[in-house]
Amino acid sequence: MAPSKSVCVFCGSRTGNDPSHMKLAARFGVLLAEQNIRLVYGGGGIGLMGAAARACVDAGGQALGIIPEFLCTREIAYDGCELEIVDTLHARKAKMAEQSDGFVVLPGGLGTLEEVVEVLSWVNLKELQQKVVLLDEDGFWDPFYDLINHTIERGFTNPVVAEQAIRAHSPEQALQKLEL
Ligand code: AMP
Repeated sequence: MAPSKSVCVFCGSRTGNDPSHMKLAARFGVLLAEQNIRLVYGGGGIGLMGAAARACVDAGGQALGIIPEFLCTREIAYDGCELEIVDTLHARKAKMAEQSDGFVVLPGGLGTLEEVVEVLSWVNLKELQQKVVLLDEDGFWDPFYDLINHTIERGFTNPVVAEQAIRAHSPEQALQKLEL
């Protein structure tokens, strides 16, 4: 049966230096396959993003990768899943949002930060309705919450954002909190 729900995963295009992060990405990919939920992601074959997509597809799941043409070589587009080639990073993010029922954010770098901040600000502006869950098992996202809370304390951010940035500490909890 084709999946009726899709989850967009934002995560690093690098592996990071703690092997538990790659394992977490793979476990999340497998869980999506087991729950018959389609993985929507950046289309790369490297880093955490590649680990999540490969694990999902290898476990019998479905994945849609959305990648700008100029990144196909640099991020080694993963041809084991459905791939949609777009023109720009902006087009990628718009398509990811359009194709997904929720967002899960795994450890990553600048690109991941850019993506999570954009979806959180769009949720806050009510331009997006999906839930956004930040997933870690080791406190990776703690400094992100510190920064968000700092901007709340200084009166620049609506306090509701601290709740809209939902936290999860296991792949199972992340899916539960998305309430798909
Ligand atoms: P990173 O966390 O830096 O490894 O990046 C994760 C993903 O985000 C990679 O696929 C990057 O190509 C992508 N990325 C980086 N910057 C942006 C951006 N401004 N808009 C959309 N995606 C981006």
